[in-house]
Amino acid sequence: MLDAVDLSIIVPMYNEEDVVEFFFARIREVMSSVPFYKYEIVCVDDGSSDNTLDILKKYAEDDKRVKVISFSRNFHKEQALYAGIENCTGHAAVLIDVDLQDPPELILQFIEKWQEGYQVVYGERQDRKSDGFIKRITALAFYKVYNLLSEYPIPYNTGDFRLIDRKVIEAVKRMKEKKLFMKGILNWVGFKSIAVPYTRPKRIAGTTKWNYWKLWNFALDGIVFSTTLPLRIWTYVGSFMAVSALMYGSFIVLRTLLYGNDVPGYASLLVFILFLGGIQFLVLGILGEYIARILTEVKDRPIYIINEKINFD
Ligand code: UDP
Ligand code: MG
Repeated sequence: MLDAVDLSIIVPMYNEEDVVEFFFARIREVMSSVPFYKYEIVCVDDGSSDNTLDILKKYAEDDKRVKVISFSRNFHKEQALYAGIENCTGHAAVLIDVDLQDPPELILQFIEKWQEGYQVVYGERQDRKSDGFIKRITALAFYKVYNLLSEYPIPYNTGDFRLIDRKVIEAVKRMKEKKLFMKGILNWVGFKSIAVPYTRPKRIAGTTKWNYWKLWNFALDGIVFSTTLPLRIWTYVGSFMAVSALMYGSFIVLRTLLYGNDVPGYASLLVFILFLGGIQFLVLGILGEYIARILTEVKDRPIYIINEKINFD
C-alpha cells in the first residue's frame, strides 16, 4: 500500500496536440488508482506552434492540479524539464514524455521504490525495438563514447524518464550551467538510485521532434559538458608524436650519414604532412566546440523565458 505523497509530474511538450488528450487520460487513470494521492501535473509548453497550449489551458481551467508553464519560444526539451524542476513543489518529481513512450503505469513502481528509500528511480529500456536501426547504432555509439570519456558513466538504455526525490531536485537546481544535458546532470549529482526495467512502446501519435543533426549536437553537448578529456588528450598525443618524430628524425640523419643522401621519400613526406594537418584541424575543431560553449556560458543568459504561468499561486 502506498502512503499519501506529494508528487509532481513534469511533462515537456512541443507541438503535441495529437497526443495531449491520450496522455491526460492515461495519467489520470494511473493517479486515480491511488485516490488519496496529492499530485500536480506541471506541463511545460516548449513554444508549441500548434494547439497544445490551448488544450492545456482547458485542462488547467477544470483542474487546479494541472499547472502550465509556457515558453516564449521553443527552447528544447532539456530546458523544459529544467523549468519543471525549478517550479515544481512535490516531495518528489517524475519526468515523463507526453507521447506515452514512458508508460505512466510505471510511476506506481517508481513510488514504491522511492518509499523504500531510493532517491532516484529510473526507467531502463529492456530493448530498443521501438527505435530504427540507425538510431539504435548511433545511440549505442554515443553511450560507448560518453562512458569511455566521462568520469560519471550514464547507465545504458536510460532516458529522462525517472522519479527524483526533493533532495535531488534541490541539487539539480544548484547546477549553474546554461546548456543542459539532463541525463549527465542527473547522474553527476549522485544519490541512491535503482533501475526499473520496461519495454518502450512506440509513440502513440504525432512524430518525433528529433532529427539526426539535432541528435548529433545533443550528443556533442553531452560529451563536451561532461568531460574535458578531448581537450587534454592532445598533450599526450602531441608528446607521443614529438618523441616518434625525434626517433625517426635521428634514424634518417644516421642513415644519411652512413649511406649518403636519400632523395626518394616523397610519398612518406606527403602522408606525414597530410596526417599532421588533419590532426591539427581536428584539434582546432575540438577547441572550437569547447570555446563556443564557454561563450554561451559567459553570456549568462537565462536558461528559458516564460511567457505565461497558470495555476501557480
Ligand atoms: N519536446 C520538447 N521540446 C522539444 C522537443 C521535444 O519539449 O524541442 C518534448 C516532446 O513533446 C516529448 C518529449 O520532449 O514530450 C520527447 O520528445 P520526442 O518524443 O520527440 O523524442 P523521442 O521520444 O523521439 O526521443
Ligand atoms: Mg517520444
